[in-house]
Amino acid sequence: NNKYIATPTRTKEILNKYKFTFKKSLGQNFLIDSNVLENIIAHAGIDKQAGAIEIGPGIGALTEQLAIHADKVVAFEIDQRLMPVLQDTLGDYDNVQIVNEDILEADVAETIAANFPKKQPVHVVANLPYYITTPILLKLLHEDLPVTSLTVMIQKEVAERMAAGPNNKSYGSLTIAVQYYTEAAVVMDVPKQVFMPQPNVDSSILRLVKRDKPPVEVDNEKYFFALIKASFAQRRKTLRNNLTSYFNGAIDKEAINQTLESIGIDGTRRGESLDIQEFATLANAFYRLG
Ligand code: SAM
Repeated sequence: NNKYIATPTRTKEILNKYKFTFKKSLGQNFLIDSNVLENIIAHAGIDKQAGAIEIGPGIGALTEQLAIHADKVVAFEIDQRLMPVLQDTLGDYDNVQIVNEDILEADVAETIAANFPKKQPVHVVANLPYYITTPILLKLLHEDLPVTSLTVMIQKEVAERMAAGPNNKSYGSLTIAVQYYTEAAVVMDVPKQVFMPQPNVDSSILRLVKRDKPPVEVDNEKYFFALIKASFAQRRKTLRNNLTSYFNGAIDKEAINQTLESIGIDGTRRGESLDIQEFATLANAFYRLG
């Protein structure tokens, strides 16, 4: 069979052959549109020198294109029922390795070290299961893996949050967590019709390019991220009020006001108006109070 997997006919053929039933709980929405796949590949920055890591190959629609365009692909798939299917659909490609593991439990750093030589650029490319998009991306980012970029199809609304700027309703603690590690951009919106079965939500392709180092200097990352979360705890409240609730007396109102004044940040602003540099200044100032 010389047709690509990502067509409605071929996908149905494969599903019927294996009597495969979708598990909604695993976010199984398979791509059946080769144009969308072409767009993902075009934006993913891969070429025959590059390695690719995929999360959730499904029946192999994207994996197949990665096998064609990259040097080597390692794909993590949680659903054991898909192992014989993938062996069949990707049997002709000798540069694909499937790992039957939950990506949230997997030692990805170890997998990269074992499969890709040190100097080879590695890109994450995936049509992610929507129910765990954020945990997957935050895991991959916080682990600071040696990957060059991540190009992922995710729920449109989540993509917008990750790529947002200040004073936008999508801007929040997730935005800053993602942009601390990467430069984020939505490259394309994708309609529901390109999936089988169709999900309830629209999707976007999000491209994250890892930074060499964070754009701001932070004394303590854990403290920084905690303070950002606190600043957005109640979006309609002022920064000062959110901080007051967060410190809950451990730092009193007067000290909060003085600290804000010392760094030139108006406490009556809302968290959503602060950019990442201001959050770094804010976190460092409070951290240094001890
Ligand atoms: N890549 C395929 C495509 O584009 O047609 C399938 C994408 S589908 C949206 C998500 C895939 O992720 C499914 O195959 C699902 O079984 C798999 N998956 C779900 N949770 C997972 C997890 N925790 N670890 C690894 N794979 C997972």
